[in-house]
Amino acid sequence: MRPALLAGCAVAAGAVAAAARRVARFRPVPVDTDPADAGGLDAAGMAERLGELIRIPTVSSRDPGAVDRAAFARFRERLAELYPHAHRVLELRVLGDGALLHRWPGRTDGDPLVLMAHHDVVPVDGQAWSGDPFSGRVADGVVHGRGAIDDKGSLVAVLEAVESLAAEGFVPARDVWISSGHDEEVAGEGARLAVAELRRLGVRPWLVLDEGGAVVRGVFPGVAGQVAVVGLAEKGRAGIELSVTDPGGHASAPVPGGATARLARAVLRVDRAPFPVRVDDVVLGMVDALGRAATPGYRALFAHAALLRPLLGSVLARAGREANALVRTTAAVTQLEGSRARNVLATRARAHLDVRIALGETVASTVERLRRVVDDPAVEVRVVDGEDPSPVSRTDNAAFAALTSAVRAVYPEAAVAPYVMVQASDARHFCAISDSVYRFMPFDLTREELAALHAADERIRVDALHRGAVFHRHLIRRL
Ligand SMILES: [Zn+2]
Repeated sequence: MRPALLAGCAVAAGAVAAAARRVARFRPVPVDTDPADAGGLDAAGMAERLGELIRIPTVSSRDPGAVDRAAFARFRERLAELYPHAHRVLELRVLGDGALLHRWPGRTDGDPLVLMAHHDVVPVDGQAWSGDPFSGRVADGVVHGRGAIDDKGSLVAVLEAVESLAAEGFVPARDVWISSGHDEEVAGEGARLAVAELRRLGVRPWLVLDEGGAVVRGVFPGVAGQVAVVGLAEKGRAGIELSVTDPGGHASAPVPGGATARLARAVLRVDRAPFPVRVDDVVLGMVDALGRAATPGYRALFAHAALLRPLLGSVLARAGREANALVRTTAAVTQLEGSRARNVLATRARAHLDVRIALGETVASTVERLRRVVDDPAVEVRVVDGEDPSPVSRTDNAAFAALTSAVRAVYPEAAVAPYVMVQASDARHFCAISDSVYRFMPFDLTREELAALHAADERIRVDALHRGAVFHRHLIRRL
């Protein structure tokens, strides 16, 4: 064998051995945690209390006149009655029209934990519920009704934990703040007011936890076990309007290339030129965490994810609509408008684009690219509204370790995987005052249960609700 070839073989053998070592080391990262302590928590009682809160129809609306303010006032009163020990230790602030901000003073002045929820719910109109959406019925180990998960379930899990600890005379090591918005579902002011108040008080949260991911199973290829998906960031969003104006005239004497045709061409260009795929560090972190928990074939592939970024990107982009949305900016044409009359040429044709912006891009860069893709000076590209992607929260600090440890205390088998939320949430406002804002609901939920969020037959299993309360107890006790 010639020396060069021999050397080549040696290098190749070395690379194969290194790859094999890499795969062998590519295992779930051990987490240091105590078993969870569920002391004082009463699953049946918390189910009844959640049921009662579901029966108070705190439906939010963009039309202030349509909001049942009495229901919101009743909700706040009932909360104080249902959780007497918690309300003995909590200092309460009501902000704006009814956002709740509670402080549980801790033993030290260390930066606090902020637990977020919201107590408004989306409407039920036009949905085919199999029973009364506001029954709050508890049957066969399930609590039924609007808000069972989103997000009265989260609020109840937090308050049950605080109630049980306060009853024991426990005092947390740091302050614990509980922020519950009254208008989250209509992108209202509740969370912004809470952030403004904390800022005014000079509070820099150590860890902020809001709704978002959950503990799921069977969602990722090659991963059979439970996965706790924790949102580290949110995509940006923008409403963008494409419009073309034209002299118009009677439809009996059209001119080729009129407003509707120009607009249609622009829409097709946008549709045919998807935004570039980008595997950001959060997606890479997700693949890393999932890969370690995957079956051997997937594990061997995912162990090299960082080296295979471009390949990974194209695999994810083809792996279905949700996976595709993780790796690129998406633009959906949601509205088209032409002439109001059937026999009159459009003087203005308009398309609305609902755009979700990937990390690393901005509203400005997105519009700039859309203009290039449309490539037609006759088409006006206008931003109706928009927000850049949120910052990415840290995973290399004690706050994330505390979160991971609480997850593993309650779900010992679960892999903890970071992800990027494709929807916008209230948590983004807290990024202005904390670098550790996580979006995670400590409930194990099935695909069907997740699909009922904002839809008919929303419900939560009592054992999932109970585990959520155990999670919050653990998190608070270990601050
Ligand atoms: Zn929600």
